[in-house]
Amino acid sequence: MRIIDFHCHFFPDELAGRAIPRMEASSGCRAFTDGTRAGLLRSMDRAGIESALVLPVATNPEKVSSVNRFSASVAEPRLVIAGALHPKSPVWAGDIKEVIALGFKAVKLHPEYQNFRADEPEYLPFFAALRDSGLLLVFHAGQDLSYNPPWGGAPSQLAWLLDQLPGIKIFASHLGGYRMWDEFERCLLGRPVYMDTSFSFGEISDERIRSLIVRHGPDKVFFGTDSPWLDQKTEVENVLRLGLGAELEEKLFNGNAIRLLPELESP
Ligand SMILES: [Zn+2]
Repeated sequence: MRIIDFHCHFFPDELAGRAIPRMEASSGCRAFTDGTRAGLLRSMDRAGIESALVLPVATNPEKVSSVNRFSASVAEPRLVIAGALHPKSPVWAGDIKEVIALGFKAVKLHPEYQNFRADEPEYLPFFAALRDSGLLLVFHAGQDLSYNPPWGGAPSQLAWLLDQLPGIKIFASHLGGYRMWDEFERCLLGRPVYMDTSFSFGEISDERIRSLIVRHGPDKVFFGTDSPWLDQKTEVENVLRLGLGAELEEKLFNGNAIRLLPELESP
């Protein structure tokens, strides 16, 4: 079966050697690749993954444009890279225009790295412009191992955003909200929000993961690994172990990804 990973990271070669040890120290997680593009491709080969969505984060507003120009310069047919935005950028409207001009179809936001809360009214104009752009908005959702509460992308906060701006295309990583799955069930289950499978296995039972996927709607769930922070091969095995059946596996591993981002189809 064709496998597409909807949640990956790599760093520019000259940055990976510094970024990975720093992030390992702050999160207590071990990286499963060296953090480079070549390392990601080797991991994909080992796991039988054909193509992947890469999700860079601009950790401050000044970096938005350079991150996007770097991402746009990467010519690797197996990787589709998302744009980066920062809600605190004083020139966010121009940033969104640049993201669209460079051809990105999705953008990544990380409330903890970027120090904002999704339910702060001051960001509504920014999110309204994103909704109108049609861009897919990929959130780090739920807790983050490198940070302490309060959280900025909790399921209740994403639900608030969805209430304010119906039609906004929210992707809530980590099965709707890392270590906040009770809140996810209360606030987002079944609603028009996408999510990936990363960082759920071993956190909650396989039975509960299967139940969340089926009840939320298998058309809205994507295979994602958060590589390098999890091992892609192990994550493929974890999803297969759920015994979802061929039809649902096809949706998670490739069908939903190709429908949402057709560029992922042909490596
Ligand atoms: Zn990630």
